[in-house]
Amino acid sequence: MERRACQHCHNFFRPLRNPQQHFCSRRVCQNVRKGIWHRARLENDPDYRENHHLAYQRWRKNNPGYWKNYRDAHPSYTDRNREKERQRRIHKKLLRGSETSQVANRETSRVAKCDALTAETPVKAGRYELVPVSHAGVAKCDALIVEISVFTNSYQ
Ligand SMILES: [Zn+2]
Repeated sequence: MERRACQHCHNFFRPLRNPQQHFCSRRVCQNVRKGIWHRARLENDPDYRENHHLAYQRWRKNNPGYWKNYRDAHPSYTDRNREKERQRRIHKKLLRGSETSQVANRETSRVAKCDALTAETPVKAGRYELVPVSHAGVAKCDALIVEISVFTNSYQ
């Protein structure tokens, strides 16, 4: 039977039941697959979107303070969200035009964190924006989109 690389972890697997299968059966890969399916469904299916919204409202009502407690207990989650939001802001400004490039340069010209990649936060496969940086550490606006694939020797 055909072996193929999982779209998430890139380990080889054999599709057993579904010949269209693109993700291996590891829990993390199945969760990624479900997340992609869920987001596509939210975007394309108004009924699904409304049901999801109502269910989430019910859940929030039954779990008051959950997110505040979660954020208090997981400061790295808050930091990551803050960083993502900052990146989204910069990206929006870049899309809006070159008159805002001064702002974008200022916001992206920062010192790289040395602890950005650790055993707990390895490089994740995906698309990244590659921004050329001058000697002064100032980001130029013409960014490239690059795709990073992670290859490992572990077969699980
Ligand atoms: Zn996988």
